[in-house]
Amino acid sequence: MKNSSIRIGLLFALFLITNEVLSQKSDASEGLALVGARIYPSPNAIPIEEGTVLVRNGKIIAVGSSDRIVVPKYYRIIPCKGMVMTAAFWNCHVHFIETKWNRADTIDAERFNEQMADMLTSHGFAHVFDLAEFDIRQTLRIRNRIKNGDVSGPVIYTAGVPLVPTNGSPFYIAPLTLQEATDAQQAALHVRQQIDSGADGTKLWTGSPTGKAIAYMPIPIVRAIVQEAHRLGKPVFAHPTDNKGLAIALEAGVDILAHTTPDGDRAWSADTIQWMLKVHLSVIPTLKLWKAELMKYGVKDLKDNPFITVARRQVHDFSAAGGNLLFGTDVGYISDYSTEDEYSLLAGSGLDFRKILNMLTTAPAKQFGLSSSTGKIIPGMDADIVLLDGDPAKDILSFDKVFFTFSQGKIIYQRKK
Ligand SMILES: [Zn+2]
Repeated sequence: MKNSSIRIGLLFALFLITNEVLSQKSDASEGLALVGARIYPSPNAIPIEEGTVLVRNGKIIAVGSSDRIVVPKYYRIIPCKGMVMTAAFWNCHVHFIETKWNRADTIDAERFNEQMADMLTSHGFAHVFDLAEFDIRQTLRIRNRIKNGDVSGPVIYTAGVPLVPTNGSPFYIAPLTLQEATDAQQAALHVRQQIDSGADGTKLWTGSPTGKAIAYMPIPIVRAIVQEAHRLGKPVFAHPTDNKGLAIALEAGVDILAHTTPDGDRAWSADTIQWMLKVHLSVIPTLKLWKAELMKYGVKDLKDNPFITVARRQVHDFSAAGGNLLFGTDVGYISDYSTEDEYSLLAGSGLDFRKILNMLTTAPAKQFGLSSSTGKIIPGMDADIVLLDGDPAKDILSFDKVFFTFSQGKIIYQRKK
């Protein structure tokens, strides 16, 4: 009995080896070796100084020091000496509302790729969460086009059409308006319809600046939205505006704050932060957005403006207390796509390179239930990889100096020489 099970085991191992060799031959063209980069396998791992990563069928199959990894004969080699490798990034707050994305199914493929590089893939993003659309079909067309494969882009998740309080469309989108949540039942139905149409989450304004005042969404309506989204297994994002909007989000069980809350110039108290930790509320800082908004309204003194210093203080205090931060910039709403300012402002809030790498990779993967497939450079994971020109451990702005972005083993961005 014992012998036969050993024999079966050996036969099985032999089968695996044979199968491995065969599939290497048949999939030879798909094999890829990234050779020579300094690799940060995860935010907390010790870097591999000169490493090699083997990729096949969109997955990472081997990672290690280049002198230990044998590159199979038929693999395509990409020399990466001098580059720094991390898992590809997430941008958890983007929009596709600019008119250039209209009818994405009909945009010329080359132009589509250029637009996508400009906005997202040249900044290392292989996953994005679209946090509000006027019509969900706008984002679905972009997503489907990428899935169909004639164009390149990140994996796109969408919150679909969001909800605002009654008479609560934010002033900054005027004269456009957003769907209002009038009562709990109607709001829950809206959430269900969006998710049925392809949304991966939902977004609401717990507090919305209407220009004259801040409109708040009643807690029972927010609860109904959260309950319905959670019943369907989807996360809830809230735009809070100020600390009262934050308290509503906390009270109702929202998952992710789409922004910090500089309106009202109040830092987060220790009690508020403890409450945020207790209910596992994650935060997308969007610090660059505050700078962009001040510039839009002609404010000159940006450095010491309380709108920025308060937001930075919130990020600092929340992070120091162990709060979960996710990276996001609100690109698409703001038309300056560079991520440099966000990295500078985060670093200036006391976050080191590993914390920022966590926000970009492992934290969002965990938040959205994808820890076992993406966010790290280890065997078995999707080959979602960026190669940087410089080490962000030494210069934080290196996070925005991208040579290559890979999504599931496919090059979705390559810097032109
Ligand atoms: Zn936004």
